[in-house]
Amino acid sequence: MKQLILLAVFFSGSAAIAQHSKDQELSLGRIKTSVSYLADDKLEGRRTGTAGEKLAAEYITGQFKKAGLTALGTNKTYLQPFPVKNDSGRTGHNVIGYIDNKAAHTIVLGAHYDHLGYGEDKNSMYRGEGKQIHNGADDNASGTSALIELGYWLKKSDLKKYNYILVAFSGEELGLFGSKYFADNSPLPLTSINYMINMDMVGRLNDSTHSMSVGGFGTSPAWSELISRDDKSFKIKIDSSGTGPSDHTSFYLKDIPVLFFFTGTHTDYHKPGDDADKINYNGMLHIIGYIKNLLTATNNKDKIAFTKTREVHTGMRSSFKVTLGVMLDYTFAGPGIYVDVATEDRPAAKAGVEAKDIIVQLGEYPLEDVQAYMKALSKFEKGQTTNIKVKRGDKELLLPVTF
Ligand SMILES: [Zn+2]
Repeated sequence: MKQLILLAVFFSGSAAIAQHSKDQELSLGRIKTSVSYLADDKLEGRRTGTAGEKLAAEYITGQFKKAGLTALGTNKTYLQPFPVKNDSGRTGHNVIGYIDNKAAHTIVLGAHYDHLGYGEDKNSMYRGEGKQIHNGADDNASGTSALIELGYWLKKSDLKKYNYILVAFSGEELGLFGSKYFADNSPLPLTSINYMINMDMVGRLNDSTHSMSVGGFGTSPAWSELISRDDKSFKIKIDSSGTGPSDHTSFYLKDIPVLFFFTGTHTDYHKPGDDADKINYNGMLHIIGYIKNLLTATNNKDKIAFTKTREVHTGMRSSFKVTLGVMLDYTFAGPGIYVDVATEDRPAAKAGVEAKDIIVQLGEYPLEDVQAYMKALSKFEKGQTTNIKVKRGDKELLLPVTF
């Protein structure tokens, strides 16, 4: 009898393992299919507002439907169109799926699916001859594929304490346009959002270091309980800040706790060489497993608290000697640059610059837009003092600033 029970346990155990590995195989297959499709030349680098973006949005919509997610975009569709300001007539499309568990609060999972096209928007790092498709396999077909995979899993799971919004943003490469629009036009009240997880470039996990960045750690006291610094399977690089060069920033600025998963930059970043054959698919599966555990853990917790963080202004693209220490609203059409956040103890804040100010001149340089600001910044040295001209409501202020 005892032997029979042992056998039964053994078989059920190995059946569970077999099922688990079968599920893993299925996931792996789906992730590979999604990354290869999204990074295919046919989608021409998925630039916001193009036919390539449309093909990608159709694919994501199809996957959300297949996973059993309902539509939460505009007019009961999966799409949320948004204008690309200072580029008249150009429209981007967020893709929004929903798992309605009839709960009071909702968790948002997000990833941008747009990329650079042929590098027309001056955000390519490619310096070679001729126009080339920037396939964006890691940036961010990987995050988008992980999002789709989590949709399949969540819908089948018994995690019912929260509803789940899964949103694939567009317009990220232009300056977080899609996520900013979503945060300003959220289909559910922002106060009902528990937290937001952003996945941007999760496709290049280094197999020897297993190092993964987790941003937003300081945006809720709950994260220090849920994310261990000495995780067994990952070398976790903690970044406390709620802001950074990706879509979680738009939610953090609405006082929503965020987490940002990122496997690091690489030599193909924002170049045509960011292709599907360089993706670490098993690494992606691992990261998705980590996020599944996190979602399972928060399913036993009440809504988590929000904490403000110190902003660090690292941009993958910033290589300046000095900065003002401001977070900008990249969707502002100008003239001038619109300050979202003036970080404490940084040059601008010390000079008296405040959030919602519009900086129109730096020293002798008028600031038409962000490009003009970047250009002007490169003219200054550490320790130098100059004047900032700021528009605040109908007033114009001249403030001395020291870098
Ligand atoms: Zn990206």
